[in-house]
Amino acid sequence: MKPTPRLFLIMVLGVVLTGCTEAAAEPSDQPAGTFEKTVEEYDVGSFAVPVFREVDGVTYINDILIVNREYDLPPDYNPGLEPEVIDATGQLMEDAAAEGFSLVIVSGFRSYQDQEAVHEDFVDRLGPEEAEQYTLPPGHSEHQSGLAVDIGTVESASSAAVSFGETEAYAWMKDVAHEYGFVIRYQEGKEDITGLSYEPWHLRYVGVEPATEMYEEDLVLEEYLGID
Ligand SMILES: [Zn+2]
Repeated sequence: MKPTPRLFLIMVLGVVLTGCTEAAAEPSDQPAGTFEKTVEEYDVGSFAVPVFREVDGVTYINDILIVNREYDLPPDYNPGLEPEVIDATGQLMEDAAAEGFSLVIVSGFRSYQDQEAVHEDFVDRLGPEEAEQYTLPPGHSEHQSGLAVDIGTVESASSAAVSFGETEAYAWMKDVAHEYGFVIRYQEGKEDITGLSYEPWHLRYVGVEPATEMYEEDLVLEEYLGID
């Protein structure tokens, strides 16, 4: 019997079976093997249950704001670009410049109404079905959260373009963004999970620790939060 997993199981059972901690802690009539088998079945990862919290119509999972095709923001949610995002973006751009890359902000905060216009424009140009690969309906854009910025080079600034993903600036940025608290939100090959096509230019601020974990484990936000 390994003491650590057993202790862990007891703690978990204590939570699950509220009020039954003592019963679970006792050796009881269960054969010793039962515990270990149960611990194996209940891999520690499966206890990382996402904790949802809703504040005025804004959903947080494990204290990280989530907005995507499934989760939306209220039309009157208008924080502007959050101060920590302004600071992190400024630092990123400053350090990029020191490396010889001139990054520019292509798009920052976008209100519900702004996104309505962007979405309408996509639908007009591509038709309602194809548009949904590239854009999100109003209320569903991360730009409304004030936690996202679109980054480009001077050359690619006129339109957020996949070609930005082929620049040296991007090659540098994708491996350091997490140090500033950012993740490349819409990754290539994860379109089915994020609900959006690959966007090398779109950075989402989540904080250094979560960003680093997502970068190192190659996870998009939905995977990281356990809602993929
Ligand atoms: Zn964007």
